[in-house]
Amino acid sequence: MKKNSFIKRNLSFLLLILLFALVFISQYIMFEDYFDEKISKITKKYDKTEKLEFEEKKGFLNQFKFNQIEEVYESLTGKIPILEYHIIETPNVYSNYILTKKIKKTKDNERFFVSSDDFRKHLEILYKKGYRNISLDEYLSIMKGQTKDFRRLTPGSKLYVLTFDDATFGQFDFLTNDKGEIFIDPDCAVGIMIEFAKQHPEFKLNAAFSIDFENVPFHQREYVTKKLNLLLDYGFEILNHTYSHKSLARLYKKNPERVSEEIGKAMEMFESHLGYRVSHINKICYPNGDNSEELKEYLFNGIVYNGKEYKFVAAIDAEGPLALNPNETNFDPYAIRRIEINNHTFLTYVINAKGLYTLPPLVLRTPETEKLVKIHTNFSIDLIKIR
Ligand SMILES: [Zn+2]
Repeated sequence: MKKNSFIKRNLSFLLLILLFALVFISQYIMFEDYFDEKISKITKKYDKTEKLEFEEKKGFLNQFKFNQIEEVYESLTGKIPILEYHIIETPNVYSNYILTKKIKKTKDNERFFVSSDDFRKHLEILYKKGYRNISLDEYLSIMKGQTKDFRRLTPGSKLYVLTFDDATFGQFDFLTNDKGEIFIDPDCAVGIMIEFAKQHPEFKLNAAFSIDFENVPFHQREYVTKKLNLLLDYGFEILNHTYSHKSLARLYKKNPERVSEEIGKAMEMFESHLGYRVSHINKICYPNGDNSEELKEYLFNGIVYNGKEYKFVAAIDAEGPLALNPNETNFDPYAIRRIEINNHTFLTYVINAKGLYTLPPLVLRTPETEKLVKIHTNFSIDLIKIR
Protein backbone atom coordinates (compact mmCIF):
# COMPACT_ATOMS: atom_id res chain seq x y z
CA MET A 1 0.00 0.00 0.00
CA LYS A 2 2.58 2.47 1.14
CA LYS A 3 4.79 1.73 -1.83
CA ASN A 4 1.95 2.32 -4.30
CA SER A 5 1.01 5.66 -2.87
CA PHE A 6 4.65 6.70 -2.97
CA ILE A 7 4.74 5.96 -6.69
CA LYS A 8 1.44 7.74 -7.24
CA ARG A 9 2.54 10.81 -5.37
CA ASN A 10 5.79 11.00 -7.25
CA LEU A 11 4.55 9.78 -10.62
CA SER A 12 5.20 12.97 -12.54
CA PHE A 13 8.63 13.31 -11.02
CA LEU A 14 9.53 9.71 -11.89
CA LEU A 15 8.22 10.16 -15.43
CA LEU A 16 10.36 13.25 -15.81
CA ILE A 17 13.46 11.33 -14.73
CA LEU A 18 12.58 8.53 -17.14
CA LEU A 19 12.18 11.07 -19.93
CA PHE A 20 15.58 12.60 -19.21
CA ALA A 21 17.15 9.14 -19.17
CA LEU A 22 15.57 8.32 -22.53
CA VAL A 23 16.76 11.56 -24.10
CA PHE A 24 20.24 10.95 -22.73
CA ILE A 25 20.39 7.37 -24.03
CA SER A 26 18.90 8.21 -27.41
CA GLN A 27 21.63 10.79 -27.93
CA TYR A 28 24.14 7.99 -27.90
CA ILE A 29 22.03 5.47 -29.82
CA MET A 30 21.29 7.97 -32.57
CA PHE A 31 24.75 9.41 -32.55
CA GLU A 32 24.92 9.60 -36.34
CA ASP A 33 21.62 11.49 -36.55
CA TYR A 34 22.76 13.67 -33.73
CA PHE A 35 25.85 14.68 -35.69
CA ASP A 36 23.88 15.27 -38.88
CA GLU A 37 21.38 17.41 -37.08
CA LYS A 38 24.18 19.40 -35.48
CA ILE A 39 25.77 19.94 -38.88
CA SER A 40 22.58 21.21 -40.49
CA LYS A 41 21.95 23.64 -37.64
CA ILE A 42 25.49 24.87 -37.82
CA THR A 43 25.39 25.24 -41.60
CA LYS A 44 22.36 27.50 -41.38
CA LYS A 45 24.12 29.69 -38.88
CA TYR A 46 27.31 29.83 -40.87
CA ASP A 47 25.61 31.16 -44.00
CA LYS A 48 26.27 34.57 -42.51
CA THR A 49 29.75 34.55 -44.06
CA GLU A 50 28.14 35.51 -47.37
CA LYS A 51 26.63 38.53 -45.75
CA LEU A 52 29.95 39.29 -44.12
CA GLU A 53 31.75 39.55 -47.47
CA PHE A 54 28.94 41.53 -49.01
CA GLU A 55 28.69 44.00 -46.15
CA GLU A 56 32.42 44.49 -46.05
CA LYS A 57 32.34 45.94 -49.55
CA LYS A 58 29.68 48.40 -48.45
CA GLY A 59 31.81 49.86 -45.71
CA PHE A 60 32.60 47.16 -43.20
CA LEU A 61 36.25 46.79 -42.48
CA ASN A 62 38.39 43.80 -41.74
CA GLN A 63 40.44 44.39 -38.61
CA PHE A 64 43.51 42.92 -40.28
CA LYS A 65 43.77 46.07 -42.33
CA PHE A 66 44.90 47.91 -39.21
CA ASN A 67 48.39 47.90 -37.81
CA GLN A 68 47.30 48.04 -34.20
CA ILE A 69 46.37 44.40 -34.10
CA GLU A 70 48.02 44.00 -30.70
CA GLU A 71 45.48 46.41 -29.26
CA VAL A 72 42.71 44.09 -30.35
CA TYR A 73 44.35 41.06 -28.84
CA GLU A 74 44.77 42.74 -25.48
CA SER A 75 41.16 42.47 -24.53
CA LEU A 76 40.52 38.95 -25.65
CA THR A 77 40.14 35.96 -23.44
CA GLY A 78 39.21 32.35 -24.09
CA LYS A 79 40.90 28.99 -24.45
CA ILE A 80 42.15 27.05 -27.46
CA PRO A 81 41.41 23.33 -27.84
CA ILE A 82 44.38 21.17 -28.81
CA LEU A 83 42.86 17.89 -29.95
CA GLU A 84 44.68 14.63 -29.30
CA TYR A 85 43.83 11.57 -31.39
CA HIS A 86 45.16 8.02 -31.16
CA ILE A 87 43.79 5.12 -33.23
CA ILE A 88 41.69 5.97 -36.28
CA GLU A 89 39.52 2.92 -36.91
CA THR A 90 39.61 2.71 -40.71
CA PRO A 91 37.89 -0.16 -42.59
CA ASN A 92 41.40 -1.57 -43.19
CA VAL A 93 42.31 -1.38 -39.48
CA TYR A 94 39.00 -2.96 -38.57
CA SER A 95 39.25 -5.97 -40.88
CA ASN A 96 43.00 -6.60 -40.63
CA TYR A 97 43.67 -5.81 -36.97
CA ILE A 98 40.52 -5.60 -34.86
CA LEU A 99 38.63 -8.55 -36.37
CA THR A 100 41.79 -10.67 -36.32
CA LYS A 101 42.41 -9.62 -32.70
CA LYS A 102 45.85 -8.20 -33.49
CA ILE A 103 44.49 -5.09 -31.76
CA LYS A 104 42.40 -5.79 -28.72
CA LYS A 105 39.60 -3.27 -28.40
CA THR A 106 38.35 -3.42 -24.83
CA LYS A 107 36.26 -1.33 -22.46
CA ASP A 108 39.48 0.07 -21.02
CA ASN A 109 41.05 1.23 -24.26
CA GLU A 110 38.09 1.98 -26.53
CA ARG A 111 38.37 5.66 -25.63
CA PHE A 112 41.47 5.73 -27.87
CA PHE A 113 39.46 4.71 -30.96
CA VAL A 114 37.75 7.12 -33.35
CA SER A 115 36.32 5.79 -36.62
CA SER A 116 37.23 7.30 -40.00
CA ASP A 117 33.65 8.51 -40.44
CA ASP A 118 33.58 10.18 -37.06
CA PHE A 119 36.95 11.84 -37.66
CA ARG A 120 35.58 13.23 -40.95
CA LYS A 121 32.50 14.47 -39.08
CA HIS A 122 34.67 16.10 -36.43
CA LEU A 123 36.53 18.09 -39.12
CA GLU A 124 33.26 18.98 -40.84
CA ILE A 125 31.55 20.19 -37.66
CA LEU A 126 34.60 22.18 -36.58
CA TYR A 127 34.84 23.89 -39.95
CA LYS A 128 31.15 24.68 -40.21
CA LYS A 129 31.10 26.02 -36.69
CA GLY A 130 33.84 28.49 -37.55
CA TYR A 131 36.81 26.63 -36.05
CA ARG A 132 40.07 26.89 -37.98
CA ASN A 133 43.08 24.65 -37.45
CA ILE A 134 46.44 26.22 -36.77
CA SER A 135 49.76 24.44 -36.33
CA LEU A 136 51.45 23.96 -32.98
CA ASP A 137 54.10 26.40 -34.23
CA GLU A 138 51.40 28.98 -34.92
CA TYR A 139 49.89 28.34 -31.50
CA LEU A 140 53.28 29.01 -29.92
CA SER A 141 53.70 32.14 -32.02
CA ILE A 142 50.43 33.68 -30.83
CA MET A 143 51.38 32.85 -27.25
CA LYS A 144 54.46 34.97 -27.91
CA GLY A 145 52.28 37.77 -29.30
CA GLN A 146 53.14 37.22 -32.96
CA THR A 147 49.91 37.41 -34.92
CA LYS A 148 50.96 37.82 -38.51
CA ASP A 149 50.27 34.23 -39.48
CA PHE A 150 46.51 34.53 -39.10
CA ARG A 151 45.71 36.88 -41.91
CA ARG A 152 44.73 33.78 -43.88
CA LEU A 153 41.83 33.10 -41.50
CA THR A 154 38.36 34.61 -41.33
CA PRO A 155 38.17 37.13 -38.47
CA GLY A 156 36.06 35.74 -35.67
CA SER A 157 37.34 32.17 -36.20
CA LYS A 158 37.84 29.96 -33.23
CA LEU A 159 41.22 28.25 -33.31
CA TYR A 160 42.21 24.64 -32.70
CA VAL A 161 45.24 22.40 -33.15
CA LEU A 162 45.20 18.78 -34.33
CA THR A 163 47.65 16.27 -32.83
CA PHE A 164 48.08 12.52 -33.29
CA ASP A 165 49.98 10.35 -30.82
CA ASP A 166 52.10 7.21 -31.02
CA ALA A 167 52.18 6.87 -34.86
CA THR A 168 49.57 4.21 -34.39
CA PHE A 169 46.94 2.39 -36.45
CA GLY A 170 44.88 4.32 -38.97
CA GLN A 171 46.88 7.54 -38.78
CA PHE A 172 48.96 7.12 -41.93
CA ASP A 173 48.51 3.91 -43.94
CA PHE A 174 49.53 2.93 -47.43
CA LEU A 175 47.35 0.50 -49.37
CA THR A 176 48.25 -1.32 -52.60
CA ASN A 177 46.05 -1.34 -55.73
CA ASP A 178 45.63 -4.14 -58.33
CA LYS A 179 48.69 -2.96 -60.24
CA GLY A 180 50.80 -3.17 -57.12
CA GLU A 181 51.04 0.60 -56.74
CA ILE A 182 50.87 2.09 -53.28
CA PHE A 183 48.51 4.92 -52.34
CA ILE A 184 47.49 6.70 -49.13
CA ASP A 185 44.44 5.04 -47.57
CA PRO A 186 41.69 7.67 -48.08
CA ASP A 187 40.18 6.55 -44.76
CA CYS A 188 43.30 7.06 -42.63
CA ALA A 189 43.80 10.37 -40.80
CA VAL A 190 46.33 11.72 -43.33
CA GLY A 191 44.13 10.64 -46.28
CA ILE A 192 41.05 12.23 -44.72
CA MET A 193 42.88 15.49 -44.01
CA ILE A 194 44.32 15.69 -47.56
CA GLU A 195 40.83 15.32 -49.02
CA PHE A 196 39.34 17.75 -46.51
CA ALA A 197 41.95 20.39 -47.37
CA LYS A 198 40.96 20.18 -51.05
CA GLN A 199 37.36 21.00 -50.19
CA HIS A 200 37.98 23.59 -47.46
CA PRO A 201 40.30 26.46 -48.36
CA GLU A 202 41.07 27.52 -44.78
CA PHE A 203 41.90 23.99 -43.60
CA LYS A 204 45.65 23.42 -43.66
CA LEU A 205 47.69 20.23 -43.45
CA ASN A 206 49.44 21.28 -40.27
CA ALA A 207 48.58 18.64 -37.65
CA ALA A 208 51.37 17.49 -35.33
CA PHE A 209 52.33 13.80 -35.18
CA SER A 210 54.01 12.70 -31.95
CA ILE A 211 56.17 9.77 -32.99
CA ASP A 212 58.02 7.24 -30.84
CA PHE A 213 59.84 4.03 -31.73
CA GLU A 214 58.34 1.60 -29.24
CA ASN A 215 56.56 0.14 -32.28
CA VAL A 216 57.39 0.69 -35.95
CA PRO A 217 55.97 4.17 -36.68
CA PHE A 218 52.61 3.72 -38.46
CA HIS A 219 53.13 -0.07 -38.45
CA GLN A 220 54.53 -0.47 -41.99
CA ARG A 221 58.27 -1.01 -41.67
CA GLU A 222 59.08 -0.63 -45.37
CA TYR A 223 57.47 2.81 -45.60
CA VAL A 224 58.71 4.59 -42.48
CA THR A 225 61.21 6.80 -44.34
CA LYS A 226 58.72 7.62 -47.06
CA LYS A 227 55.97 8.46 -44.58
CA LEU A 228 58.07 10.67 -42.31
CA ASN A 229 59.33 12.64 -45.32
CA LEU A 230 55.85 12.88 -46.81
CA LEU A 231 54.50 14.29 -43.54
CA LEU A 232 57.01 17.14 -43.71
CA ASP A 233 56.38 17.60 -47.46
CA TYR A 234 52.69 18.09 -46.84
CA GLY A 235 53.32 20.60 -44.05
CA PHE A 236 52.56 18.39 -41.05
CA GLU A 237 54.76 18.61 -37.99
CA ILE A 238 56.69 15.79 -36.31
CA LEU A 239 57.25 15.79 -32.54
CA ASN A 240 59.75 13.73 -30.58
CA HIS A 241 57.68 11.30 -28.48
CA THR A 242 60.90 9.56 -27.26
CA TYR A 243 62.54 6.33 -28.31
CA SER A 244 60.62 3.77 -26.24
CA HIS A 245 57.67 5.69 -24.76
CA LYS A 246 58.82 5.49 -21.13
CA SER A 247 57.80 8.07 -18.53
CA LEU A 248 60.44 10.82 -18.75
CA ALA A 249 59.52 12.16 -15.31
CA ARG A 250 60.28 8.78 -13.76
CA LEU A 251 63.50 8.34 -15.73
CA TYR A 252 64.60 11.81 -14.67
CA LYS A 253 64.25 10.83 -11.01
CA LYS A 254 66.46 7.78 -11.55
CA ASN A 255 69.02 9.52 -13.72
CA PRO A 256 68.59 12.60 -15.93
CA GLU A 257 70.92 11.05 -18.50
CA ARG A 258 68.27 8.45 -19.21
CA VAL A 259 66.02 11.30 -20.38
CA SER A 260 68.71 12.53 -22.78
CA GLU A 261 69.14 8.98 -24.03
CA GLU A 262 65.42 8.48 -24.68
CA ILE A 263 65.16 11.75 -26.59
CA GLY A 264 68.57 11.57 -28.26
CA LYS A 265 68.04 8.02 -29.53
CA ALA A 266 64.74 9.10 -31.07
CA MET A 267 66.50 12.07 -32.72
CA GLU A 268 69.04 9.67 -34.24
CA MET A 269 66.21 7.49 -35.55
CA PHE A 270 64.50 10.53 -37.05
CA GLU A 271 67.80 11.61 -38.61
CA SER A 272 68.26 8.18 -40.21
CA HIS A 273 64.93 8.69 -41.98
CA LEU A 274 64.90 12.46 -42.55
CA GLY A 275 68.57 13.45 -42.86
CA TYR A 276 69.10 17.19 -42.35
CA ARG A 277 65.34 17.69 -42.16
CA VAL A 278 65.56 16.36 -38.61
CA SER A 279 66.12 20.01 -37.64
CA HIS A 280 62.35 20.49 -38.07
CA ILE A 281 61.82 18.46 -34.92
CA ASN A 282 62.01 20.92 -32.04
CA LYS A 283 59.22 19.90 -29.69
CA ILE A 284 58.67 17.06 -27.23
CA CYS A 285 55.51 15.10 -26.47
CA TYR A 286 55.68 13.55 -22.99
CA PRO A 287 54.86 9.82 -23.00
CA ASN A 288 51.64 9.42 -21.00
CA GLY A 289 51.81 13.15 -20.30
CA ASP A 290 54.22 12.53 -17.40
CA ASN A 291 56.29 15.59 -16.58
CA SER A 292 57.68 17.46 -13.59
CA GLU A 293 59.18 20.85 -12.80
CA GLU A 294 62.71 19.41 -12.79
CA LEU A 295 62.15 17.65 -16.11
CA LYS A 296 60.79 20.81 -17.74
CA GLU A 297 63.82 22.76 -16.52
CA TYR A 298 66.10 20.04 -17.89
CA LEU A 299 64.45 20.13 -21.34
CA PHE A 300 64.50 23.92 -21.37
CA ASN A 301 68.30 23.84 -21.09
CA GLY A 302 68.60 21.44 -24.03
CA ILE A 303 69.95 17.90 -23.95
CA VAL A 304 73.20 16.35 -25.10
CA TYR A 305 73.37 12.83 -26.51
CA ASN A 306 76.28 11.15 -28.32
CA GLY A 307 78.09 14.47 -28.43
CA LYS A 308 75.21 16.30 -30.09
CA GLU A 309 73.12 19.03 -28.53
CA TYR A 310 69.37 19.20 -29.07
CA LYS A 311 67.18 22.18 -28.20
CA PHE A 312 63.41 22.02 -27.74
CA VAL A 313 61.18 25.08 -27.79
CA ALA A 314 58.10 23.43 -26.30
CA ALA A 315 56.61 20.22 -24.94
CA ILE A 316 53.03 18.98 -24.98
CA ASP A 317 51.14 17.27 -22.21
CA ALA A 318 48.52 14.52 -22.54
CA GLU A 319 44.92 14.80 -21.40
CA GLY A 320 43.86 17.92 -19.54
CA PRO A 321 41.93 21.14 -19.88
CA LEU A 322 41.85 23.45 -22.89
CA ALA A 323 45.07 25.20 -23.80
CA LEU A 324 45.67 28.77 -22.71
CA ASN A 325 45.11 31.89 -24.82
CA PRO A 326 47.59 34.61 -25.80
CA ASN A 327 46.64 36.80 -22.85
CA GLU A 328 47.47 34.25 -20.17
CA THR A 329 50.48 35.26 -18.13
CA ASN A 330 51.08 31.79 -16.68
CA PHE A 331 51.56 30.02 -20.00
CA ASP A 332 54.16 27.26 -19.77
CA PRO A 333 55.48 26.20 -23.20
CA TYR A 334 56.81 22.99 -21.61
CA ALA A 335 53.38 21.86 -20.42
CA ILE A 336 50.96 22.63 -23.26
CA ARG A 337 47.55 21.20 -22.45
CA ARG A 338 45.55 18.96 -24.76
CA ILE A 339 42.15 17.23 -24.88
CA GLU A 340 42.06 13.51 -25.54
CA ILE A 341 39.42 13.13 -28.24
CA ASN A 342 36.64 10.61 -28.60
CA ASN A 343 33.06 11.35 -29.64
CA HIS A 344 32.05 12.29 -26.12
CA THR A 345 34.94 14.60 -25.29
CA PHE A 346 34.72 16.13 -28.76
CA LEU A 347 31.20 17.42 -28.15
CA THR A 348 31.63 18.24 -24.47
CA TYR A 349 35.03 19.87 -24.38
CA VAL A 350 35.43 21.24 -27.89
CA ILE A 351 32.12 21.94 -29.64
CA ASN A 352 30.11 22.83 -26.56
CA ALA A 353 33.02 24.30 -24.62
CA LYS A 354 32.37 27.72 -23.19
CA GLY A 355 34.61 30.73 -23.59
CA LEU A 356 36.78 29.73 -26.52
CA TYR A 357 39.35 32.10 -27.91
CA THR A 358 38.41 33.74 -31.20
CA LEU A 359 40.41 35.71 -33.69
CA PRO A 360 39.64 39.39 -33.37
CA PRO A 361 36.32 40.26 -35.01
CA LEU A 362 35.81 43.16 -37.34
CA VAL A 363 36.96 46.50 -36.05
CA LEU A 364 35.97 50.01 -36.99
CA ARG A 365 38.12 53.09 -37.12
CA THR A 366 35.80 56.07 -36.79
CA PRO A 367 36.60 58.68 -39.41
CA GLU A 368 36.33 61.69 -37.10
CA THR A 369 38.63 60.56 -34.35
CA GLU A 370 40.83 57.96 -36.07
CA LYS A 371 40.22 55.97 -32.95
CA LEU A 372 40.32 52.20 -33.07
CA VAL A 373 37.09 50.77 -31.73
CA LYS A 374 37.47 47.28 -30.38
CA ILE A 375 34.41 45.10 -30.48
CA HIS A 376 34.50 41.91 -28.48
CA THR A 377 31.55 39.82 -29.53
CA ASN A 378 30.95 36.35 -30.82
CA PHE A 379 30.94 35.25 -34.42
CA SER A 380 27.28 35.84 -35.24
CA ILE A 381 27.17 39.55 -34.44
CA ASP A 382 30.56 40.85 -35.38
CA LEU A 383 29.49 43.23 -38.12
CA ILE A 384 29.79 46.89 -37.29
CA LYS A 385 28.12 49.55 -39.34
CA ILE A 386 30.25 52.49 -40.34
CA ARG A 387 28.53 55.78 -39.70
ZN1 LIG B 1 52.03 8.25 -26.40
